[in-house]
Amino acid sequence: MSLLSWSKSALPTFSRGGIHPDEHKELTENLPIEDFIPTSVSLPVSQSLGPSAEPLVVKAAKVKRGDVIATVPGGGVSLHAPVSGIIKNVQTGPHASLVYDTVITIQAKPGEDDPQFPEQAGWQALPVAQMLERIRDAGVVGLGGAAFPTYRKLTLPKDAKVDTLVINGSECEPYLTCDYRLMLEESEKVVLGSWLISKIIGVKNCVIGVEDNKQPAAEKMRQTIAELGLDKMDPPVKMTVVVTQTRYPQGSEKQLVQSLTGRLVPKGGLPMHVGIVVQNVATAIACLEAIRNGKPVLERVLTVSGLGIKTPKNLRVPIGTSVEDLLAYCGGYSGEVVKILLGGPMMGRTIADLGVSVTKGSSGLLFLTAAETSITRYQPCISCGECIDACPMGLEPNRVSQYMEAGRPLETEQFGIRECFECGCCSWSCPSHRPLVQFMQVAKAAYRRHERKAK
Ligand code: SF4
Ligand code: SF4
Repeated sequence: MSLLSWSKSALPTFSRGGIHPDEHKELTENLPIEDFIPTSVSLPVSQSLGPSAEPLVVKAAKVKRGDVIATVPGGGVSLHAPVSGIIKNVQTGPHASLVYDTVITIQAKPGEDDPQFPEQAGWQALPVAQMLERIRDAGVVGLGGAAFPTYRKLTLPKDAKVDTLVINGSECEPYLTCDYRLMLEESEKVVLGSWLISKIIGVKNCVIGVEDNKQPAAEKMRQTIAELGLDKMDPPVKMTVVVTQTRYPQGSEKQLVQSLTGRLVPKGGLPMHVGIVVQNVATAIACLEAIRNGKPVLERVLTVSGLGIKTPKNLRVPIGTSVEDLLAYCGGYSGEVVKILLGGPMMGRTIADLGVSVTKGSSGLLFLTAAETSITRYQPCISCGECIDACPMGLEPNRVSQYMEAGRPLETEQFGIRECFECGCCSWSCPSHRPLVQFMQVAKAAYRRHERKAK
């Protein structure tokens, strides 16, 4: 039986591992997206997977909204000024995952003649190569968190046999509701962006996956698809919405592909190897705006939440908005905050510096109190096997942690660490509070260092 034919009482899902953390989405799911523009923005030049961009601007230079301010030599994902203003500094500053990076700070001075990026004529009929160029020039990356350059993901090898586009509306991380709000408030953009991506990769079938805790979004998407009549456009695309079980990590690519199509991505492979390309809903909107309006990625929608912030919100903010400005805009701390995370609680990065800024991949900013997060000292492994049961990739994080504690990181490949995508299910399940995902990260970093040295 195909997974798609399961009844509502047994909604489609992936077959192995996974967890059900508390959702906490009620804090923000009914809050419409608000705009917030700070007085200055600080943009780290490392915003996507691959080489960092190099600054093209110097202190005191004037920039207009949308100007390229940093680029990767030889082609790559550029960074654009999200606001018009004056370059205040180009210097070393904090970065959520790299600790430090080159950061370009702009003092905002909005003007009446700032580019607004209206719709351009004939965008639906542009040749595919030109659409890809626009996506590259707009600096579009995966906005679900991965930040992989989108033009590279959509430039398929000649021998690729792809038949389906999967649009990821799962938003399985607890607390985060920004994709949910985009599906409710900007469903037309999500659908048109998905149609354009289908056209670029040459498929006639598009499946939008939404977890069953977001039924209103699924309904809204279905309604919009029917209104826009995509099956009558050139080319026609059959777009369907499939509601999946709410189960973390439903939104990770391999799990979502299995849930929606029943296809299993092979070890070390990509969804493309089973005929599928996956894009997130916010990325679909960014692709539409790049092609239809020539608009670069200047801002993003993110969720500011947690019991440690006074007024949780869904916000559209310029890239480079600081955590400090967001904290102030959302009313400051509420209670004793023990952890601040950029991203979701499962895969986000803990930050220690309020000067860290929102990058293109930042989908959330969480202020967590002791009631919401574990800060207990970790204990020895009791061999309960919970982490193995929870791992969606069938790995042995307990064994990896034991080898790491024994100082033997280069003997951990046998436990499948290269397949680990750092979802955090193992750490969440461990009764001994062992930082299993961190052990995985350090083991993978040890292999990367070892391989670099061997070259
Ligand atoms: S973080 Fe890695 S090892 Fe842990 S559950 Fe996820 S995939 Fe498995
Ligand atoms: S869940 Fe924790 S205690 Fe249990 S086997 Fe895994 S590492 Fe050991």
